[in-house]
Amino acid sequence: MCIFCDIANKKIPSKIVYEDSYTLAFLDLSPVNPGHTLIIPKKHFENVLDLDEEYAEHLGKAIVKVTNLLKTKLNVKNLNVINNSGKLSGQTVMHLHFHLIPRKENDNLVINFNESNAKEEDLIRVYEQLTN
Ligand code: 5GP
Ligand code: ZN
Repeated sequence: MCIFCDIANKKIPSKIVYEDSYTLAFLDLSPVNPGHTLIIPKKHFENVLDLDEEYAEHLGKAIVKVTNLLKTKLNVKNLNVINNSGKLSGQTVMHLHFHLIPRKENDNLVINFNESNAKEEDLIRVYEQLTN
């Protein structure tokens, strides 16, 4: 069974902050910062790699709705919207979810995009793979 399907079906309780017919947003059980919210599709998708456009559209809308809630109710001015897709990316719950993580000064959350030394030719190769 999938724990987030159970949350979507209200078989498992959660602290729901936003809901529409396609999506549900609820507080993360172990928040990185206050207001850390998860947004999920009510239908089971494993992650963005199998997401369809219909649900993507509604998830995008839900992200904006919940962001507005965090802005107006918690005065959030800095936010990370994060999705982990696949085990190597850090995904632990295999039902698609977007993290909305409000940021505070010195909150010690480190999201590190390591600098790489990709050459122009590396970029061109990938660009050509993607556009041809
Ligand atoms: P992931 O690493 O898969 O991107 O993140 C999974 C997130 O789900 C974690 O931040 C974890 O705290 C949260 N989580 C796991 N189980 C539950 C649960 O039963 N209820 C809630 N509200 N959050 C959960
Ligand atoms: Zn599920």
